Amino acid sequence: MAKFLLWAVVILAVLLVSRILAQQKARARHLAERRQAEIGQQAAETMVRCAHCQVYLPRSEAFLSQGRTWCSAEHARMGLKR
Ligand SMILES: [Zn+2]
Repeated sequence: MAKFLLWAVVILAVLLVSRILAQQKARARHLAERRQAEIGQQAAETMVRCAHCQVYLPRSEAFLSQGRTWCSAEHARMGLKR
């Protein structure tokens, strides 16, 4: 009887450890997938061009003014290149 209890405890311990390991693996995979998604989002971000110096930059970093995109506040103030 004592032997049976010992085996039961050993089996339960193995199940517990394998479940913890599976959870850790799932969490690591989840984090990796999220990082990949973030990288993909950055790469897919629309590029816009500065109306002054024609430099391309991500839309999130661009200045919007007078219906045009600019690379910096200074270029937005200077306006179109003549
Ligand atoms: Zn510019």
